[in-house]
Amino acid sequence: MELPDKDVCYRALESRDARFDGLIYVGVKSTGIYCRPVCPARTAKFSNCTFYGSAAAAQDAGFRPCLRCRPETAPDLASWRGTSNTVSRALALITEGALDGDGASVERLAGRLGVGERQLRRLFLQHLGASPISVAQTRRVLFAKQLIHETHMPMTEVALAAGFGSVRRFNETFQSLFHRPPSALRRKTTAIADDGVTLRLRYRAPYDWESILNFLKARAIPEVEVVEGDHYFRTVEMDGFSGTIEVSHQPERQNICVKIRFPNVRSLPAIVARVRRQFDIGADIETIDAQLSSDPLLAPLIAQRPGLRAPGGWDGFELAVRAILGQQISVTAARRLAGQVVALHGKPLSKAYAGHPGMSRLFPTAERLATVRSIGLGMPAARLAALKALAEAAVADNNLFRQASSIEEAIDRLKAIRGIGEWTAQYIALRAIREMDAFPATDIGLLRGAAVLDKTAAFTSTLLLDRAESWRPWRAYAAQHLWAADSSLPQEKGQIL
Ligand SMILES: [Zn+2]
Repeated sequence: MELPDKDVCYRALESRDARFDGLIYVGVKSTGIYCRPVCPARTAKFSNCTFYGSAAAAQDAGFRPCLRCRPETAPDLASWRGTSNTVSRALALITEGALDGDGASVERLAGRLGVGERQLRRLFLQHLGASPISVAQTRRVLFAKQLIHETHMPMTEVALAAGFGSVRRFNETFQSLFHRPPSALRRKTTAIADDGVTLRLRYRAPYDWESILNFLKARAIPEVEVVEGDHYFRTVEMDGFSGTIEVSHQPERQNICVKIRFPNVRSLPAIVARVRRQFDIGADIETIDAQLSSDPLLAPLIAQRPGLRAPGGWDGFELAVRAILGQQISVTAARRLAGQVVALHGKPLSKAYAGHPGMSRLFPTAERLATVRSIGLGMPAARLAALKALAEAAVADNNLFRQASSIEEAIDRLKAIRGIGEWTAQYIALRAIREMDAFPATDIGLLRGAAVLDKTAAFTSTLLLDRAESWRPWRAYAAQHLWAADSSLPQEKGQIL
């Protein structure tokens, strides 16, 4: 994998340069420890340092994570370095536990991705500098370490949550890495937490929290999502269990904070992964902003909202339903319809995990909407048929909302569903599949946003698409900026989703 020169890496380490945090890790030969470039410990000698592009690569080389700078708290930017969709899909599956447990194997994982086992190993080595097994193992260790440090979960639950097959294996792993049992790593001073598990997820600054919160607030589905004050709440269903999350911001520490109230600890990694997606925590935002700023049309927008993120959808199916409901109507009207879908078909949430009285139902699953006799909304018949077709497609294909081998393939797969056209497919690709080059060019909000910036151009979708060529591969962020520009207009409410 591509790393900067050792001299460059060492200078970053000497100056504790935060721009390299999450991008490089240093293994120190004399201590056997690996660190983030921002580690407060004294900088090791040049000759003792080896640099790696991922925590897994450092751990693979025999180094153990530093207890001071805590590599598990580095911003997780892995998905931004590789350009391989196969690797990013594999990472998503690994986070969901594809390599945990006894039946799991790299061969089976490769099969799910439609590639050979050897090819998958080669891609991992190329993009992450480590094997799939090492990546899974490192993920388990680092997640367990974070739970030990930041929560009061009993060790048996930590072991399960992090994906260790047994408490014995968890103990052995920690003993061999740190030469002490996991419980010895727990700080005695941590304040007693209330209900739920609270974790901190670091991002690379800047982060425009206000914009992302406003965006989510305008679209919050009644009974499922609540935005109140500086907090975002939502109900969560996963692996047959249900609960809630509460997300907030700690700008002074560059953290997004998530409180999870959920009965099944094994779902924690997948819930955290979804929070990362929804809040776009892994974006290498400085690079993106810099590239988009080179277009004079976008430059003033980037200057106005540095660190603007492109929020993901919590759940692919939920987001796609929203996209269909929102075809040709306003955000407010689409939100009301989504609320009706929930009221009619959403299961009630157990009060034990609620956390906020505004959350009372779960968004209906694809299975539910595929089998229900009538969706029962006051909507054109064609759009109701589209919802039904979407639900059936989602039931039939587990990978419908996962990255395909290319963005074109993902778009084609969606457009094959009755009632999903180019605009809806691009929007789903952007927010649910996280194709950061997706761009719904015919969107009225985008066209209005562009028109505000350049009144002489009279933007049509064709002109906008032409202009957007230079925004690749980050057109989703450009779209987000144009939407933000449009929604700040004093005129009538935008028609964006
Ligand atoms: Zn360190």
